Amino acid sequence: MSQDLADLLFPSSPRVEAILAQYPARGLAQGALVTRFAPSPTGFVHIGSIYIAMIDWLLAHQTGGVFILRIEDTDQKRQIERALEDIVQYLAAFGLDPDEGLAIVDGAIAERGAYGPYVQSERRTIYGAFAKQLVASGWAYPSFQTEEELLALRRRQELANTGTGYYGPWAEDRGLTFAEVQEKLAGGQPFVIRVRAPYPNPEKAVIDDAIRGRLEIPGNEIDHVLLKSDGLPTYHLAVVADDVLMGVNRAIRGEEWLGTLPLHVQLYQALGLPMPIFAHIAPIAKTEGNAKRKLSKRKDPEANVAYYFAQGYPIQAVLEYLLNIADSGFEDWRSKNPESPLVEYPLSLRRMPVSMAMFDLQKLNSISREVIAGYSPDALLQQVLTWADEYSPDLSRWLHADLDYARAAVNIGRGDTPPRKDLTVWSDAEREHGYFFDECFARSLADEGYKFPSLADADMLLILDYCLQDMAAVEQKGKDAWL
Ligand code: GLU
Repeated sequence: MSQDLADLLFPSSPRVEAILAQYPARGLAQGALVTRFAPSPTGFVHIGSIYIAMIDWLLAHQTGGVFILRIEDTDQKRQIERALEDIVQYLAAFGLDPDEGLAIVDGAIAERGAYGPYVQSERRTIYGAFAKQLVASGWAYPSFQTEEELLALRRRQELANTGTGYYGPWAEDRGLTFAEVQEKLAGGQPFVIRVRAPYPNPEKAVIDDAIRGRLEIPGNEIDHVLLKSDGLPTYHLAVVADDVLMGVNRAIRGEEWLGTLPLHVQLYQALGLPMPIFAHIAPIAKTEGNAKRKLSKRKDPEANVAYYFAQGYPIQAVLEYLLNIADSGFEDWRSKNPESPLVEYPLSLRRMPVSMAMFDLQKLNSISREVIAGYSPDALLQQVLTWADEYSPDLSRWLHADLDYARAAVNIGRGDTPPRKDLTVWSDAEREHGYFFDECFARSLADEGYKFPSLADADMLLILDYCLQDMAAVEQKGKDAWL
């Protein structure tokens, strides 16, 4: 009956073996890690996403493996315009371009890699095949219940004071006969495919998490939806199919997925496919009063990656900082290897925090000052220019008017011992160095309450005179420091 049911529901789906044959083993060296960053394009890019992507990128690149960007866009209702472009562009801006998946190629977003497509909405046929196999083996079944029926079920369960959800004895559609399914299909009723979870007493899920060690989690008994009525999969089916086909061997993801891990373990077992090693990452959190809480998309501007660009943090500083909270061994390594590129840091999942990765802007600021202090005069000017061109038209104009002068101005005091570290972010440049530029200086006098009566005003002339002399002196000092 199961195979007939599978053929009835998925008449044209290929067999899973045929699909597996199109995704051969990668033939990488022993120990090479294949990782994936798998965001859903449903909002702004969170700093926690860059944190995970950086860990994925580093582990793949340190081991001669592959870093994949997979776009998980199966929840089409929650999608947001531009979110996908933002993901690709921010990864590129952080130097975390994927080896496979969507990347910026010759200035435009394009897909690369032989294990695609890397956008889930383009992989319907694949998910259909996996769902079909699960139905054929009795591990899944079609369910035709409407939203209203599910709501009514929930009310009955609440009254009965029992666990809510579609499961075991409450899952009416588990018992549908072939003829009943046929009839509903003929009537055009929409359906979903649900897993037939073992009930009662499902086996515990036991896994060795690369961060948390051995985990034993109560087994899943809920008949979760695997394929929705629009033919697209839920995360649970998609993640299993894709990680297998793409050869992912370290599935690094947020700890919010620990709860559904037992379902994923069941699906791997049901499909007879090898599981990757999982690593469940603790969320980035901050202290508020005496309490700790996750960095919130709504409350904390620093949760949004755009914040770091608008403030003008050097990319290098943000990455160094994220590594600092990711791996307790990083700070010591950095002090012994001040010049080494980050990719040389032997990152260890075992050293990662298991409850919360504490975020502290003060620490980021101090790293940022150090990073900026290490820039050459040219690199410093270039970075300030790049920031100003995008975020501060005034500063950009002043700098471009005379680049040599601008270079001297932004580098002033850097030759001192100890060097001045007055820039934490590029946006500080306007405050710290703007007064070297006439227009800015005049404006800040105005901001401070000076009235500019007329050029004939004696006080005004004195002020301007003073400025001009001072400007010449500082310009000379700046050039000395630089040359
Ligand atoms: N699309 C999921 C998310 O954005 C990805 C989880 C995973 O990495 O497996 O949370």
